[in-house]
Amino acid sequence: MTQLKKARSGIITPEMEKVAEKEQVDVAWLMDQVAKGRVVIPANKKHTRLIPCGIGEGLFVKVNANIGTSSDRSILEDELAKLMVSIEAGADAVMDLSTGGNIDEIRRAILKESTIPVGTVPVYQAVIETVEETGGLIHLTTDKIFEVIERQAEDGVDFITVHCGLTRPALDMLKKQGRITDIVSRGGAFLTTWMLHHDRENPLFENYDRLLSVAKKHDLTLSLGDGLRPGCLHDATDRAQIHELMTLGALTQRAWDRDVQVMIEGPGHVPLDQIETNVILQKKLCRHAPFYVLGPLVTDIAAGYDHVACAIGGALAGAAGADFLCYVTPAEHLCLPDVHDVREGVVVTKIAAHAADIARENRIAIERDRQMSIARKNLDWNTQIKLAIDPEKARKYREQSPSAEDDVCTMCGKYCAIKQLREYFNNKKDLRTAKQT
Ligand code: SF4
Repeated sequence: MTQLKKARSGIITPEMEKVAEKEQVDVAWLMDQVAKGRVVIPANKKHTRLIPCGIGEGLFVKVNANIGTSSDRSILEDELAKLMVSIEAGADAVMDLSTGGNIDEIRRAILKESTIPVGTVPVYQAVIETVEETGGLIHLTTDKIFEVIERQAEDGVDFITVHCGLTRPALDMLKKQGRITDIVSRGGAFLTTWMLHHDRENPLFENYDRLLSVAKKHDLTLSLGDGLRPGCLHDATDRAQIHELMTLGALTQRAWDRDVQVMIEGPGHVPLDQIETNVILQKKLCRHAPFYVLGPLVTDIAAGYDHVACAIGGALAGAAGADFLCYVTPAEHLCLPDVHDVREGVVVTKIAAHAADIARENRIAIERDRQMSIARKNLDWNTQIKLAIDPEKARKYREQSPSAEDDVCTMCGKYCAIKQLREYFNNKKDLRTAKQT
């Protein structure tokens, strides 16, 4: 039975209990959220080291880190280092997007080490193996796609991206309206090439019931991908994107009808003023299924700093209701990220998620900031470092510039504003015991 089926049957699972404890929410309420499809708990039984994580309304906004090899760079140890640094920096999930080297071996190694949910995009491996075996992706078959999905599910993958909503009518719309960047999703591009070459419908759309059977068997959470996500601001919120989203809404209901957990992937590159609209549309069309946004990046010109462009969009999307933020690293659009890029991407996206949590009135998130403010007022450096989103970096800055006076910092030195005014305002004791108003 899937988590969804159990929740609908009134069964509280060990996974629900662990998530409720971590989130400090009532477990019966959580079960109800899972039963409604508003929260997913991607937890493949074969992923033995997994600490379950809930994604959806009423919970902390979660962060995903994409790792994995490419055809140009493929070193297993590097990917395991990226996994570990992602976990240490606070990522809630990783996706193994490997397209180079021994993909099975890399995925299995990641699953063996990972305590957080692991997602994949099986069509990548299906295409790569087809190309290796036959010389071209046009020889991809439906059976090949499903054989890879089964193989990955058997290995313990917790969630998969499947671009089921990329249909022929949506492609016709895309062609007619004209885009600057056409299709930027790798999975979307593979499927589109195959569909146009064979003049056929998307095999993942046509065989959706078969996909649901596999997902149900393994309690594999489906992340319904947005193969037509905008790859630049010009293309955002256009007819093709919204057509695909409407299809995903219908497919969400079909997944729920079969007790399959589902979340929805979203854009991409979106101007700041269109982000809230995108979240409202997704929540409405997909009946509050968890929303997993890929960014969104709020400008196209931040190369080298795309993690910042992503965090700005992610914070706004999270505040508007998105539940799961896919990180972007400083290497986005430029090269495969290294371990430092991965760490930077996770930390910056965690800031976005935390900012969104505060806007969503998450009391634990709000309290952490309140405690930080008190520590600042008290010039309590150890607590400030402990509460910081990246304690390692905070400590490094503090230590590399020691002040002549121990209790202040070198920003203002002996003219520290906090210290000067301390005697005229609340003292340390009052602040520590002050109740939140
Ligand atoms: S020295 Fe300036 S920046 Fe540093 S703690 Fe005091 S007021 Fe803040």
